[in-house]
This record gives sequence, C-alpha cells and structure tokens, in this order.
Amino acid sequence: MNIRIEIVCVSADGLEQRRQLSGFERQELAMETLGMSLAESKALLEGVQDFMVAQQVSENLEQRRACLHCGRRHTTKDSGSTPVNTLFGLVNVPNPRWNRCACQAEGPETFRPTSAWLQGRTSVEMLYLESKWASLIPFAKVADLLTEVLPIGDSANHESVRIHLQSTAERIEQELGRERQLNEYEGSEDDWEQQPLPDGPITVGIDGGYVRAAHKQGCFEVIAGKSVVAFRREDATEVPSAKCFGFVQTYDEKPRRRLWELMKSQGMQENQQVVFMSDGGEDVRRVQQYLHPFSEHLLDWFHITMRLTVLQQQTKGLQQERPETGADVAKQLESIKHLLWHGNTPEALERITGLSIDLSLIQAHSVLAAKVANGLAEFEIYIKNNCDFIPNFGERWRQGERISTAFVESTINQVVSRRFVKKQQMQWTHRGAHLLLQARTKVLNDELEGVFRRWYPRFRPQAA
Ligand SMILES: [Zn+2]
Repeated sequence: MNIRIEIVCVSADGLEQRRQLSGFERQELAMETLGMSLAESKALLEGVQDFMVAQQVSENLEQRRACLHCGRRHTTKDSGSTPVNTLFGLVNVPNPRWNRCACQAEGPETFRPTSAWLQGRTSVEMLYLESKWASLIPFAKVADLLTEVLPIGDSANHESVRIHLQSTAERIEQELGRERQLNEYEGSEDDWEQQPLPDGPITVGIDGGYVRAAHKQGCFEVIAGKSVVAFRREDATEVPSAKCFGFVQTYDEKPRRRLWELMKSQGMQENQQVVFMSDGGEDVRRVQQYLHPFSEHLLDWFHITMRLTVLQQQTKGLQQERPETGADVAKQLESIKHLLWHGNTPEALERITGLSIDLSLIQAHSVLAAKVANGLAEFEIYIKNNCDFIPNFGERWRQGERISTAFVESTINQVVSRRFVKKQQMQWTHRGAHLLLQARTKVLNDELEGVFRRWYPRFRPQAA
C-alpha cells in the first residue's frame, strides 16, 4: 500500500495552500514495518515544519506590508533569508529588507520587518531542551540523542550545546540583582515586627566538592547545598519544600544574593533565622558565615556519627587482639558520643584526652591500638575546630528540630559529583562549572520551564 500525505494551510479568509509530502510505502507487515519508522517520521516532521514556517512568515510579512501611516505597500530593498535551527529541521526564514515609506521623512531608510519577532538563530524549544539536558548529561550525549530522534541534521554538536547552555545560564545570572552587602537587611526592625510569623525554620545544608580544572590547573572548589523549609504555617501537612543551589566561589560575584533569592522563593522573610549545617570543613564554614546575616551555624550530627563509626570499627579490630582494652575503648567511645549528643563538648574533649593517654601506653606494642589512637587524634582536632558549632543535639531532636542534613550528601552528588568529579577526565573552567551549576539547579528545582515561560510568554502554555 501507499500512504499519501498532503498538508493544507487554511488562512483566515478561507484560502487554501497545499503541499504534497513524501508518503510511505508498505508491502509485508512485520513488527519492524508496523507504523512509521523513525526516519519516516523525521522526514514527515521536517516537511511539515518547512511548510508551516513558510506559511506563517509569508502571512506575517503580508500583514506588515502596508505602511501604518498611509497604507501604501513598502517596497523591497533586498530579499534574503535567515536560517533558524528548530527541533524539526533547519528552516530558512524569509528576511527581506524594505524601504521606508515615502510618506515618512525620519528614521532609517530601510528596515527588516522580521525584527519585530525574530530573535537569534535557534528556536526556543530547542534552546530549552539543549539547556535542560546539557545541565544533566554530557554535551556530546545531548547532541547525539537529539540528532538521533529529531530531524535536526548536523545542527547540534557538543560545542553548540555548550554554547546554548551557557547563554541560558548567563541570562539567568543577569537577572539576579546586585550582591547583598554583609549585614544588609531590607526594611527596619519595626518593619520586621509588623511581618507575620515566619514559616518553619529554614535549614540550609551546605557542602563543598572539588572538580578538576582545565589546563592542568589542579582542582577548584564548588559549593552546593539545599535549603529546606521545615513546615508552612498555613498548611502543616505540606511536605518540606527543598531547593538546591550551587556556585563556584572563585567565580561567583553574588553568592549572598543567590542564596537570598532562593530562600525568598521559599517564603523566607527578612526577619527569619536560618540554620546552616555543614560537615565542619573550614572552607564551607567560612562560606556560611558570610552568606546570611541572621544565621546560626551547626555541625551536622551525621558527620560526627560517621567519624565515630569509623573509630568504632577500628576498635573492633583492637578488641580481637586485646579483649579487655578493646571493650573499655568501645565503652569510652560510646560515652563520648553520648556527651556530644547532649552538646557537652568540654567533657567530651576531656574524655577523648583521657582515652588518648590510655592508648598511648600500649600503642608502641600494638599496631591496632596505634591505629585507633591516630583516628582519635584526628577526631579530637575535628571537635576542637568545630566546638562552637556543636549544639545540644538531643534537645533539638526532642523539639523536633533538624539535627542533620544528611540529605545534603545526596544533593552534592546530584549537583556536583556525578558530572564533575567521578568522570575524572572532565575538566572545567571556573566559569563553565559555575554556569552549568546554575542551569542544573534550575532543572533540579523544577524551575527552568518557568524561567523560559517568563522570557517567552507563549512557550509551552500552561493548561488553564
Ligand atoms: Zn506611508
């Protein structure tokens, strides 16, 4: 059989334009001949797109042809066309240059009527898909996939995908206001008192990761985190709303504004306190201190327990060699954990020192004891460095407050590691990594489509 395809455009005044598209031929039915093949669908889409664009542009040019002032038709200075990449093929948009009407004496002598709507050389949906997927998977893979399933010819490659992702991210960046000064608030204290009670506390988990720099420049740090609102006053049952963020400190000029806008989009008020949690690494601690003025900084309980778990594992080894000593060390570690849980850092540190002395007496004769002693020494430094950030976890926990942002670990993996770190051959510029993070966090927060709709109001209209 033969399937014939004809496409018809009906204009407002009832005039019809037709075009014959290449159809399909089928002999024998088999699974692989059932319906259209991908290649046939690509050819079909390309044909429809070409016809549709030609009709749309010619109608629009006709509407603009008459002078707005006297009604005479503009004369043509130059014909010409502009290639535009769309998801359904490269189309040539007629783009003539017309003479200014004789009735007008001022302004440029010629103009392009398409300038009223034509922006760039890429359709908005193509820009959106490239930006979205390039933020999640490698640029070359995006180009591969789009090329395989859509009739885009050779218009997408890893370079064009990268450029489109970056231009999207740059545009997002330009919309961010100026950087906030440290200790800058909007409104006065009186204003804040007028404000309603804020929703539940905002907890920001923050962590750092390292990515490999381009041109053999070593590594540089990227910061990522997640901001979580515990509950909303109007609707206590609503699930916590969480949004992630990321930036490259050495490139970003507006980290405070970035986090501020993110938390504001989650309903944060000027007078609201924010609790930062981190693993206690020095770099990250400095970041959170300058990110938000009304903030409290806590060490994440999760990171304390992780370190203690490692020590307990090492103690099990010791216990096999010296059952009595091992059991005693295990007991002491348990009590150190208990003291830290209740925020009793001074006593915990005393216990650690005591235990270190006990171990130092035998570590010369026992490799396993030396191992535990080394681990304990590191743990002691860690607790000392972070003693100002260790709250009474037990009390917080009883009050239903957050004591851990273990979820941030997975955020870091989501936002950073998979692309940047684990694929060691990938190398990044500070700018490239920063822009990728901006696009990616918009995608992970489910906001990119809304951003595009703000830029292009007719993009993917929302169902009413
Ligand atoms: Zn005129």
